[in-house]
Parts: sequence; C-alpha cells; structure tokens
Amino acid sequence: MTRRAGPVGAASHGPSPHKDTFDLVSASRIGEANKRRVLQTLFDLGPTSRADLARLSGTNRTTISGIVQPLLDNGLLVEEAPREHKSVGKPPRPLWFSPDAAPVCAVTLMPNRVQSAMVSITGEIQQVKEVKTYGKDTSREEFITALKTCIGASLASAARQPLGIGIAVGGMVDMAQGDIVAMNLAPALSGLELARLIENAFDLPTIIDHHPRAILLGERWFGQGRGLKNFAVIYTGEVLGCALYLNDELFRGPLGSGGELGHIIVDMDGAQCTCGKHGCWETIATLPWLRQTAAAMGIPDADRLDTQRLCELAEEGDPSATELMNRYARNLAVGIANLQTLLMPSDFILYGDIINGSVRLHDRIEADVKLLSPRHPGGKRHVVCGSEEEKTTLRGAAGLVISKQLQIKY
Ligand SMILES: [Zn+2]
Repeated sequence: MTRRAGPVGAASHGPSPHKDTFDLVSASRIGEANKRRVLQTLFDLGPTSRADLARLSGTNRTTISGIVQPLLDNGLLVEEAPREHKSVGKPPRPLWFSPDAAPVCAVTLMPNRVQSAMVSITGEIQQVKEVKTYGKDTSREEFITALKTCIGASLASAARQPLGIGIAVGGMVDMAQGDIVAMNLAPALSGLELARLIENAFDLPTIIDHHPRAILLGERWFGQGRGLKNFAVIYTGEVLGCALYLNDELFRGPLGSGGELGHIIVDMDGAQCTCGKHGCWETIATLPWLRQTAAAMGIPDADRLDTQRLCELAEEGDPSATELMNRYARNLAVGIANLQTLLMPSDFILYGDIINGSVRLHDRIEADVKLLSPRHPGGKRHVVCGSEEEKTTLRGAAGLVISKQLQIKY
C-alpha cells in the first residue's frame, strides 16, 4: 500500500489530468454562471493562475480577468505569492480563496463526541470546541445541550458573519428535510429534526450530511481526493460507513440515503447486524467483530482490542493475532472488492480505527482487494490511509455550506 502524505498542500497541486477543460457559457449569459464555473474549477484544482484558467476554459486572459476581478474586489479571492517559473516574463500569481472571506461553523455529531470550529473557505480550522458524549447513555437533551454549547462558543469566536452551519452526522440522514433518520449507536437522536433545531437556535442556514460523506468532501476539496474523478472513503471502527465520488459527483442517492455500504450483505447466514439484518459487511469488518473473534481465539484483553494493538501483537510474533489480522484484512477487502467490481472507483481512502494498523495490515488489505476483484482495464486500484480525521470531517462539514452558498457542486 502506498502511504500518501497528509492533506495535499493547496499550492502544491497542479491541474488534474481528469479536469482537462471547463466550459464558460456564451458572452450573452456571462456573469453568475461563469463566476460559479471559475470557483468550481478552483475547488477542483486548487490555486490556479489566470493563464491556466484561460487555457482550461479555451478562452483568453482578458475574459478570465473580467470574471475574477469582481471576486478579487469583493474579497472572496486573493492572488497568492508568485510561483517560480523558468520562462521569461512576470511569474504567475495563482488565484485562491481568501482566508479572510466569510467562514463557516462546522460541526461533527458522533455518538461519542460533539465538536465544532470556525472553518475558513480555504480549510483553515480555528480552535475546536468539544463535548464528550456517551452514545446510548446520552439523552437527546444532553446531545442538544452539547451541540448548542459547542456551536455557541464557536460562533462567539467568529471574526465575521458566518455563511452558515454545516453538520457531519454519524448516522443516516435525510438531507432534504435536515433530519437524522437513524443513529444506531446513539438511538436518542434517531428522528431528530436537527437542521431545523439548529437554524432556529442560531438563525443561520444549516445543512447536515452523513459523516463519511463529509470526510469525502473534506478530502475532495482539501486533501488526497482533489482532482480525482472516482474515489471512495471507507470508514471503519465501531461501525462501518462509506462515501462515493463517481464521475465528478458526490453520490448521495434519494434523500441522501444511498451509499449505506456497511449494510451490503456478504454472508446470508452471518451474524445479526445493528440494522436488524444478517450478514452485513459491517458485521465482519468492524471492532465488535474483531473483539468477539479475538475472545473466541483466546487473545488476551479481547474486549479492549483495537487495530493498533492487534498489529502490535502480530509484530511480536503471536500466531493467533497474525491469523486474526489476516482475517480482518480479508473481511475488509471483500467489501472493497465488491465496490470495485460494481463501480470501479480508482482510489479508496481508509478512515477510522483501521488507519492505526501496521503497514503489513494495510498491504494485506490492498493485496486481498486485488485478489478478490476481477481484472479490469480501468487502471490500478489504490488503497490509502486518510489522515487528520477530525479536521477532514470539519472541513467537509464546512464544504456543505460553501457549496450551497456559492452554488457550486461538491
Ligand atoms: Zn446491517
């Protein structure tokens, strides 16, 4: 497995091979649509010079300057420091979003924590506020108090009027209504009209989405997903969740309920899942399976086992731990291989407890995915580890609001 560096530095990324061109609309309709396309291209590619924008749109610098100058004047964009270049003439100054433009209040709502922070349009995160919660042992009122405490503190620290509030939710959501449909590890929140509650409390537009999709958006705009045409985020720890980016679109399905891949069935006679069905992928590729199987194999402290400890035991030469590690890798790989067979995303970015495993485990997952997937002419598969999960999630939650307010797609 190739371990990539953390989030890609914005200035280090050039135009993607997947984003060869973008279209400007006709001169008679120039204006908002062209502005949106330029902003979209900047989020797709990162900082980009006027010359590159002109080349990518098949137009000239004068046209591009006419589009971007109002955005520079109103403080949404800035010119970055000149890039080094070898040709004669003035070095290009890439255009990028201003860190001083209106920020977003980004929130993560998980069974075991509520976090919030002000996030700039360039992905910088201010001080993170956090309240610990306790899943099934935390009441709805306690979760709501935690949310209001965190969000109130973050908004109080905002230097400018925020664009809105974006919330990543560790459960199934109805995006259109802004409701939590189900949160298996924090059932008190199932059915909560979350967006309406927060909008009423803080008088700011509020958007919610599923936690893995927020991670995917954070990766897409500010991390390893930038410029990729097809990729997936696989999150596994206590639960398993996925998010898909297909043909330049974040896939959500009707009402945002698509992509619940933790519940694809991989064993008709398998164990019962938290969703009530039997043999879901989640039942064999999460920590509860790991601990239960470790206990049955006589591995010490099985009830507290996690991926990091399992790999440490395997490195120490424990044959049971090595066997369990290999089974865990295969269990995770089977779902990824199914996804690969069905949709062919080229890159899989892992998140959750699994990223604390050893290189040996991650290499094993990648090798098993290769073994279990059909040969295809569609290019190589890459299974890589994500980084900075909490920050990537907050960046993605902010991206939900940025996308809505600037009218650009995810
Ligand atoms: Zn299930």
